[in-house]
Amino acid sequence: MKDHDTLEHRLTEQGISRRAFLKFCAAMASLMALPPGSATAVAAALAQAKRPSVIWLSFQECTGCTESLTRSHSPTLESLIFDMISLDYHHTLQAASGFAAEKSRDDAMKAYYGKYLLLVDGSIPTKDGGVYSTIAGRSNLDLLQEAAKGAAAIVAVGTCAAFGGIPMAKPNPTGAMAVSDLIKDKPIINISGCPPIPVVITGVLAHYLTFGELPALDELGRPKAFYGETIHDRCYRRPFYDQGKFAKTFDDEGARNGWCLYELGCKGPTTHNACATTKWNGGTGFPIEAGHGCIGCSEPNFWDAGSFYTPLPAPTAEVTTVAGIAAVAGAGAAVALSALDRAKKKHMQQTHEKLTVKDLHD
Ligand code: SF4
Ligand code: SF4
Repeated sequence: MKDHDTLEHRLTEQGISRRAFLKFCAAMASLMALPPGSATAVAAALAQAKRPSVIWLSFQECTGCTESLTRSHSPTLESLIFDMISLDYHHTLQAASGFAAEKSRDDAMKAYYGKYLLLVDGSIPTKDGGVYSTIAGRSNLDLLQEAAKGAAAIVAVGTCAAFGGIPMAKPNPTGAMAVSDLIKDKPIINISGCPPIPVVITGVLAHYLTFGELPALDELGRPKAFYGETIHDRCYRRPFYDQGKFAKTFDDEGARNGWCLYELGCKGPTTHNACATTKWNGGTGFPIEAGHGCIGCSEPNFWDAGSFYTPLPAPTAEVTTVAGIAAVAGAGAAVALSALDRAKKKHMQQTHEKLTVKDLHD
């Protein structure tokens, strides 16, 4: 078992310069919407933070979430974060296989019982005893319940783990469920998205290490710092929306001029995520910049709601939230489903605030 030394020691070992680390801290402070000048305090806290044990379980998923996290080139914010945690078990990334891999999970669960972070991607099949997805002869449900017992907190990475995602889409042949549908006695953070933005995953981990507590969450258990606004709130095409300038086809003059994609089905007004601010691929762009509307991948039931190329209810300049659009338009299918799930999952906020980083390595 590895010694979980301080982050400062680890970074020195990895040859990461102080300058690169401070740059990372400044970016993290900015991402977490902290006041100017917070980077030094963030750096001091992160430098002394001990690396927590992390167990990552992958269930019914496409590995897109892991792909998202690893599509980065060193040195990046994401790779720095990997130095901040001790990734003791991860199906895809670990070197061990077979019995040795299962033993490494058992060892970490025993050694850090009550202190490790459990990251989960993928939904959990529950029909027919969970036989539709097994690892080492054990159902995903069995593995989740076992690992959840000793976890300090659970991070549901991606829309499948957070809300059921595509595996839960009708007719849901495997009885797929979200982590929060099955685990009720642990703090759960949902980092939704299909896949989620890597810097959002790392930002949540950095917040946990820096402040010793979980970040503030929205009514769906998502960190407000990243999901507090809609894509539409921060979209660079928003001025065209406000002026009523809409592309009618993907190759008309409006599309060539970069006008709003609302009439081509963009779900930005009802989708909470950070794509328009953090962007993708090292901050180079996001789908709307590539000319395609948002399909709402970070919201519950986005796949069943479908209608990817059908416009939302009529645009109203003042109305940009899910609730607002529902009130004005009588709630389209996607909006109604979203509101229903928000109410259903509201309980998840209640137990999160008091967990501290001390719990991870006392
Ligand atoms: S509708 Fe879509 S493309 Fe238009 S401003 Fe909103 S998010 Fe951007
Ligand atoms: S723009 Fe919309 S559909 Fe595309 S990744 Fe972001 S939230 Fe998902």
